[in-house]
Amino acid sequence: MNPLRNNIAEMNGYVPGFQPADESAWIKLNTNENPYPPSPKVAEAIRAEVGADGGSLRKYPDAASREMRAAAAELFGVSPDWVISANGSDELLNNLIRAFAGEGEEIGYVHPSYSYYSTLAEIQGARVRTFGLTEDFELADFPERYEGKLFFLTSPNAPLGFAFSREWIAAFAKRCAGMLVVDEAYADFADGDVLDLVREHENLIVTRTFSKSYALAGMRLGLAVARPWVIAALDKIRDHYHLDRLALVAATAALRDQDYLRQTLARIRATRERFTAELRAIGYRVIDSQGNFVFASPPDRDGGRVYQALFERKILVRHFSDPLLAHGLRISIGSESDMETTLAAMREIG
Ligand code: PMP
Repeated sequence: MNPLRNNIAEMNGYVPGFQPADESAWIKLNTNENPYPPSPKVAEAIRAEVGADGGSLRKYPDAASREMRAAAAELFGVSPDWVISANGSDELLNNLIRAFAGEGEEIGYVHPSYSYYSTLAEIQGARVRTFGLTEDFELADFPERYEGKLFFLTSPNAPLGFAFSREWIAAFAKRCAGMLVVDEAYADFADGDVLDLVREHENLIVTRTFSKSYALAGMRLGLAVARPWVIAALDKIRDHYHLDRLALVAATAALRDQDYLRQTLARIRATRERFTAELRAIGYRVIDSQGNFVFASPPDRDGGRVYQALFERKILVRHFSDPLLAHGLRISIGSESDMETTLAAMREIG
């Protein structure tokens, strides 16, 4: 007899983007990492924390992430009890489901978006309901009032790259009887965000990651902004020392260097616009993107063919087998030169 819980025995588990063993031999545009290093202040802060002999590492980190939360709160114009830190925003998504959706209760999200919501719900034994997108990026069949415990709205959407408007999200929050989580993993690359709407909407939670705009995917950092009662609940259920000392000083330094962030974002957005225009010039259909990636379909709408041909040239992009997405590719925005190489390859592949 297999003693596993049924839902664990039956689930498949999430498969993250392919990680080649010889990473440096590839142009890696499949997991929306940042092509530029984090702020130089980050490495400085880590070096200072490690010191000459790593002595500080014998002590536990600050369980409450006080300095990092204060830095985030200052940046967002809220008080620190509206902010929680996390070991990647994935940790928040997990803990939000644990906090709000019990066994058999419903969570909802948009399809296509981030399928990890579904994996996390399966672990918890929660039910999942997905809402498809219409041609003009509206949710199909969404009820006037949604009774699920939690709804995840990825905005900007991944993998498609469009963002829901501020007005649309404000109205949508009112239609959710439960909590609305706006997953703003990519919001720093967008023209706007809805973080300040948490003040007006009791049921709104905004999650952010340091993995994309702050170039800290390797440190596993995220945060959420919401009402203090939501933050207090998330604080109760997280691992008590969920962020290590190095991650904490890195996050604080990154948050305090907004000038550096702005420069990096401007570069990536400029590359994104150029790459989009060039792809369109060779006949690709490209969705206007608000993220650090584009979703693009070749003229023959065979994303798998182009994926394979790029793979053979050691260029890694994301192809989804999902029939709704198989016609295209999600391509992260890398450095100028990586995108030039990728474009040249795509022109050759046709
Ligand atoms: N949300 C979305 C929409 C994402 O694409 C990702 C990264 N793949 C995450 C959340 C998780 O990011 P992290 O755990 O690295 O903060």
